Amino acid sequence: MHKTCKLCPRACGVNRDKSLGVCQVSSTVKVARAALHFWEEPCISGENGSGAVFFSGCPLHCVFCQNEEISHGKVGAEITIEQLSQIYLNLQEQGANNINLVTGTHYIPEIVESISIARNAGLSIPVIYNTSGYETVESLQMLEGTVNAYLPDFKYMDSNLASKYSHAADYPDVAKKAIAEMVRQCPEVEYDDNGFINSGVIVRQLLLPGHVNDAKSIVEYLYGTYKDSIYLSLMSQYTPMAQIKEKYPELDRRVTKREYDTLVNYAIELGVTNAFTQDRKVAKESFIPDFLEGCGCPD
Ligand code: SF4
Repeated sequence: MHKTCKLCPRACGVNRDKSLGVCQVSSTVKVARAALHFWEEPCISGENGSGAVFFSGCPLHCVFCQNEEISHGKVGAEITIEQLSQIYLNLQEQGANNINLVTGTHYIPEIVESISIARNAGLSIPVIYNTSGYETVESLQMLEGTVNAYLPDFKYMDSNLASKYSHAADYPDVAKKAIAEMVRQCPEVEYDDNGFINSGVIVRQLLLPGHVNDAKSIVEYLYGTYKDSIYLSLMSQYTPMAQIKEKYPELDRRVTKREYDTLVNYAIELGVTNAFTQDRKVAKESFIPDFLEGCGCPD
């Protein structure tokens, strides 16, 4: 599958044993960090934390990426599928509420195999697939039966914005189809007795400074299409990173309270009730985990 890789919509067609595609990682699984993670939605993190596995590399490469070292595949450890399975089991042993697979698009076959191995070895907590939303339907279909809940972004409705900030003019169409497939697989949000997600789809919208109208279009589309069968997560945590100052000065600020309130009020006016909102205090650079400390992978 990695010999002429078309796992994601970039469809590079490269042999990842010999050269790199847009995702910037070879066919060997590379993990940047695996640890309990406390900064997801409450139904995912809770007090114990989610068992987050941050994969190195990314097919999207947003210009405002908060984790460029990881998304460009520069940090992380290459591991076997068996080691990846053991990571899941270790996280469960540490008390994780779930396994939270962060940006695993370019390793979907390995994710399916490693989760299967871990399930046979006693992994019993839900598996959450945490993604940019830039996924092919065919790749998502490989995850059916492996993933319990999906946590996709919906970043842009305007393809000009998607082109400018993620070099992916097809993002809006791709994300719509991807989310439809996720909802097909997980049609209702279900929680366990403690309020942790067992199944379903939560769609995240990270509000960008100056782009409330695009965010409103996304909320309107999602609510109009899926009503209460999905949850929305309206995020105010956008943090300007150093790399955007020169080329994208319009993104070099945080989202204002007024912008965020406008978006939240719009969702309320539409009738959205199944939604998570954020305290703007989370938008501090210090809130971004330090991914360079070591990946937490087994030796
Ligand atoms: S997973 Fe990587 S190599 Fe494969 S199509 Fe996507 S960006 Fe290209």
